[in-house]
Amino acid sequence: MTGPGEPPPAPLPGAFVHTFLPGRVVFGAGALDQVASEVEALGVRRVLVIATSSARDAADVVEVQLNERFAGRIDGVAQHVPTAVADSARAKAHEVDADGIVAIGGGSAIGLAKAIALTSTSHGGEGLGVVAVPTTYAGSEMTPVWGETYGGRKTTGTDLRVLPRVVVYDPVLSQHLPMKVTAASVANAIAHCVEAVWTPRADPITETTAVEGLRALSSGLREVLAAPYDLDARGKLLYGACLAGSALATAGTGLHHKLCHLLGGTYNLPHAETHAAVLPQVVRINALAVPQAAARLTTALDTPSTDLTGGLFDLFQQAGTATSLQQLGMTAAQVDEAAAAFRPTENPVPVTEELVREILTRAWDGARP
Ligand code: NAD
Repeated sequence: MTGPGEPPPAPLPGAFVHTFLPGRVVFGAGALDQVASEVEALGVRRVLVIATSSARDAADVVEVQLNERFAGRIDGVAQHVPTAVADSARAKAHEVDADGIVAIGGGSAIGLAKAIALTSTSHGGEGLGVVAVPTTYAGSEMTPVWGETYGGRKTTGTDLRVLPRVVVYDPVLSQHLPMKVTAASVANAIAHCVEAVWTPRADPITETTAVEGLRALSSGLREVLAAPYDLDARGKLLYGACLAGSALATAGTGLHHKLCHLLGGTYNLPHAETHAAVLPQVVRINALAVPQAAARLTTALDTPSTDLTGGLFDLFQQAGTATSLQQLGMTAAQVDEAAAAFRPTENPVPVTEELVREILTRAWDGARP
């Protein structure tokens, strides 16, 4: 205990704080069939089903299995949860008197469920019970982070009410995810793992989760590139995505994610692809400041390159995802504008406008670090 006016004690070497988040994961090929029993176990009576356009068949199955618990359905979602879409989904949830949501799809479908849960007062004020069934590797299902976009500006926040109570991972649902979407989505998940080792909230438990997540994502991606419909490899990617989302949930975001959110929000660049172009350039700056974690990540990445930054760049190129912001439609003038607009953030290497310009210029060129 410190007395009034005394400075807080210096942390002991090796001291850390890690908060485990509540939640249940059901994993396996065919796990979609367990959604209805998971809903029942939650005590949810009236379910609103939200499905991305590619998940309509899966939503049909869930609708039948929910039987009298099925209350309504929203087909089709929009990226970054526009407020107009969120408002109409909230109205639908109210209209059908939903006390639970099953969201099937990528980060956009799960994001819409979170937007409803954030403002709901059902379940004694605890919000709606969300069951997430992810079909991409974005990882939103494991986090209490919500986002909503209005007038081109995305607002994000953290609230435990939006954290899905159950996540059902069924590799069959992502078996036909197109390779271009797969590669970008895996890059997004890899970014969660890598950045988790250097954010201000990084800790050894999160780091171990992130390293194992990267191992699964890197080997899973190479296997899926060789055999796109291989169910074991798709399962490996979903397992990696689960760990990546968990790491993001406890470590929070840092320089890399903040840069990607600025670029996505201001210039409408595609979310997942932007991660692939920016991450190797941020790693080039930060890896030397976190040498032990970088060494563990390099081993987990397991590419011929001996350094993390080159290994990531090569893996993204091999997977065919854009490694340059120019390819994504950003202009050179926007690089300058973004560097000037970026607000400094806590980072192992002090963040200056020059540093941000250097990262973005290299990411724009797509130069191998
Ligand atoms: P997405 O959900 O928009 O899906 C991308 C595309 O893939 C869509 O066209 C979708 O219809 C299609 N698709 C999805 N699953 C498919 C399947 N199995 N087969 C064929 N096509 C399929 O994109 P995303 O990358 O999953 O999510 C991005 C969004 O999630 C962004 O808004 C991002 O900000 C958010 N996000 C939030 C968090 C968080 O913690 N809150 C974390 C990561 C991402």
